[in-house]
Order: sequence, then structure tokens, then C-alpha cells
Amino acid sequence: MDKLILIKYGELTTKKSNRLAFVKLLAKNIENILKDENYKLKYDRVRMYIECEDADTISLKLKNVFGIHGIVICHKVNNNVDEIKEKVLEILKNEKFNTFKVETKRALKSFEIHSQDFNRIIGGLILKNFECKVDVHNPDLLLKIEIRPEGTFIYTNEIEGIGGYPVGIQGKGMLMLSGGIDSPVSGYLTLKRGVDLECLYFESPPHTSIQAKNKVIELADIINKYSGNIKVNVVPFTKLQEAIYKNVDDNYVITIMRRMMYRIAEKVAKLHKCKIIINGESIGQVASQTLSSMGVINNVTNMPVIRPVACMDKLEIIEIARNIKTYDTSILPYEDCCTIFLPKHPVINPELDRCLYYESKFNYEELVLECVNNIEVITNLNNRNNDLL
Ligand code: ATP
Ligand code: MG
Repeated sequence: MDKLILIKYGELTTKKSNRLAFVKLLAKNIENILKDENYKLKYDRVRMYIECEDADTISLKLKNVFGIHGIVICHKVNNNVDEIKEKVLEILKNEKFNTFKVETKRALKSFEIHSQDFNRIIGGLILKNFECKVDVHNPDLLLKIEIRPEGTFIYTNEIEGIGGYPVGIQGKGMLMLSGGIDSPVSGYLTLKRGVDLECLYFESPPHTSIQAKNKVIELADIINKYSGNIKVNVVPFTKLQEAIYKNVDDNYVITIMRRMMYRIAEKVAKLHKCKIIINGESIGQVASQTLSSMGVINNVTNMPVIRPVACMDKLEIIEIARNIKTYDTSILPYEDCCTIFLPKHPVINPELDRCLYYESKFNYEELVLECVNNIEVITNLNNRNNDLL
């Protein structure tokens, strides 16, 4: 088989010390995404190759794998001038172009012809066999030839990879996943930095519906295309939420509710060996996301809380949501526990002392533990890797 997919790592290559660990994890993630395909994967510290029958299907799937920066469908021949010439002619027969440029990279220094000379030899061959001109600035067709110790690779165009780091290289984080627009985008951005996810969803039946829960599972499923390992932990929040509404003044209920969410998130995160909490908070978006509110709410945990969309405008978040295909699901109109019984005037500058006072009025610790102990874990997301393509 002379057709190969060459995978370029990009950012990975800058991490010299633990490069092999990166590459091994990337290989594992690729195997996960390609589990239904027929292929052979080979790799070393600098390159990864896939031999396969259906290079087009596989390269499309590889576009969802974080850590891949370039995907090249290429042809491999021996380091032999005649073989290279023959393959170039064969490849170009299927290409349409008026102008071209040849770029040779000679990684194998013992190869007898220098890069510039080789460009001229192959350029001459192309001019002789096709009706075309050379254009070194803006060619219709860029023919790349890489002469490496293991063989010569010839290809015409590189498909851009999704970038980022291999999912899992940074361990795991606990994503507070609601049915809104912001938190799935936050999850996607965190996955991109190499953090694998578990999700945490607070439901308050009968105040929130089964449709609201299914919507969250659907969102988890969509971002699971970039991981394959995501689970959803569903927290039964009703009793605790009702206790909050009974004991706390109207304008502080959201603040206290969010402090409880953080407490629960920290406990569940620790149980599942997650190193951070992630959520979709964005500065100034609602009363609970002013800087004062964030401070008072964040006060209940020492675990790092990452807010990937904190500094984005809603329109920027929506653009990402559309690209990753979570948007249409996010805008389905089902109530979340944060939007039921919304107070008329939620406090914008909450005071910590007031929070502590309200929390002293009821035994919230017991209710928090009850939430943690009665979580329903949903593991069987239908990992529909193909649908994104
Ligand atoms: P929207 O996109 O409409 O702003 P949102 O999901 O961001 O919706 P917010 O009320 O702004 O909703 O909540 C801020 C963050 O708190 C969410 O992004 C999410 O991380 C977390 N959160 C809110 N409600 C829940 C919930 N029911 N379960 C889990 N996390 C939640
Ligand atoms: Mg929001």
C-alpha cells in the first residue's frame, strides 16, 4: 500500500521533555476515534503515519482529534530519483493546475541531491509533461517532497488539524454542565487544552423536566466526540434547593444555590480524581457572575475553578457553539434549576457574612452529602463520532 496519512503534531513538538508521553496518548486517542476503521498506526517521536484503504474517511475523523495540527494524505516511495519522478507524474495526472511550485525538504542529509537542485529537477519534469508555469509566490499547486531516512513522502496539500493537546494529557476536570450555551463551549475549550472531562448536572424534578435532563445528556454526547470517555453525573438537587428557598431571602437564593453547587462539585470532583472544576460563567453576564458574586461564590472551595468563556462576548461564545454543533440543542426551551423561581432582584454585590448567616439557618451539610451520595451516573452516551463529520 503506497498511500499513507501523515499526522503532524505541531504544538507537541515544542514539549521536548515529555514528547513520547504526548505521542503515546495521541495514538491512544486516535485508536479510540478510529475504532470502527481498518488501518495500521505507526509512530515515533516526530511523526505518526496511518496506513489505510480509505484515507478520505479516516482523515475526516482525524479532524476531531485534539493534538493533531496537520493531516496529509501522502504517497511514500523509496529514496530513489526514478521512483520519485514516476510517482510525481502519477499524482499530478489527477490534479488541475496552471501554476505550480515544488518544495523539497531533505531531512536525510546523505541523499546526494540538494533540495534546490531537486526542486529544479522535478520542476523541469513537470514543465515537460504538463501545460503549466512555475509560480513561486502564489501557485495553484504546491508539491511537497520530504526525503527522510524511512523513505520519500510526496503530497500536494495539507488539511488543517483541530490543534490543541491530546485529551487526557492534563488529567481530568469536572464540568458543571447545564443546558445553556456557555457550559458546553467551556467543556470543548477545556478538552482542547488536553483536559478530559466528567460532567455534573443539577436537576430538580419535578420543577425541572426529563427533557431538560435529556438535553444535557445530548450536549455531553456532542462534546464526547472529542473525548470518548465522558460521563454525566446527575445530582438530585430538589431537596437542597427547596431548603434554600425556605431559609434564604429572595435576593440571596441564587448566590446560596451556587455556593451549594460549588460545594457539591468539589466533593464529586475529588471522588472522581478531577483536578479542577470548569463552568460556563462569563464576567457580568448575570447577577451571579459579577466579580463580587464570583468572589463570594468561589469562597466555598480551594479547588481551581476554570471559566474558559469568562472573557468572551456572548456572540463569540455563540459562534463556537455553532461550530461545535451544540447551539441548536442549547437553545431548546427547557427550564434549568437556575431559571426556576428566579428572584426579581438577585443581589449583585453579595456579602459573605450574609451568606454565612443564611447557611447557619439550616443543616445544609447533610443535604449536600445526600446529593453527593445519590448521584446517578450516565455512562452510555451514544458516542456518535461519525455524525460530526
Ligand atoms: P446560558 O448559556 O443561557 O448563560 P448557562 O448554562 O451559562 O446558560 P448560567 O445561569 O449562566 O447558565 O450558569 C452559569 C454556569 O453555571 C453554567 O455555565 C454552568 O457551568 C453552571 N450551571 C448552571 N446551572 C447548572 C446546572 N443545572 N447543572 C450544572 N451546572 C450548572
Ligand atoms: Mg451563562
